[in-house]
Amino acid sequence: MPQSKASDSARGHWPECDNLYFLPMLSFQFLPPRTSRCDCCGGTATRLQGYVYRDGVNHAVYFAQYTDIHPERIVSFVVSLGEWGKGGPEGKRVAFVLALRKGEDNLEMTVTDSVDSPWKRIRLLGQMLDREEALAHPWLKEVFLITEQVFQQDAEVLRYFNPTAAS
Ligand SMILES: [Zn+2]
Repeated sequence: MPQSKASDSARGHWPECDNLYFLPMLSFQFLPPRTSRCDCCGGTATRLQGYVYRDGVNHAVYFAQYTDIHPERIVSFVVSLGEWGKGGPEGKRVAFVLALRKGEDNLEMTVTDSVDSPWKRIRLLGQMLDREEALAHPWLKEVFLITEQVFQQDAEVLRYFNPTAAS
């Protein structure tokens, strides 16, 4: 079983962060990937889901989706933060929509509008923010931290972005 551990990579990216965000002990539970046929091209679309824990407490949920044969490798991504740990109502959850690309030496994260998300109708994720709302939201830093760690630790995401590496 792969050992999840908090990575140091995000350190220094957000020097203005308070301690709450500075050294998060995040761990992940990755669900098995599910595949289907891509609507636009007939390629294989892969959907991922993962749970994020902070100090052992259920903290966030993410979904990711990509298609193997698309010319540009982009992962559609959504992170829902809020009252996951307490079985809280979805009204207290907020979802951030991102498009992920692999840059020269790090992950490029673009915040997008909810209309662009494959999960825009999934009410369980809570209120899905548009780009402007997301960029102004105090939880955005946390979303970036989580997303960077998913990029480093989710084996399926790694495989997609590094197709020649380990397959
Ligand atoms: Zn397609």
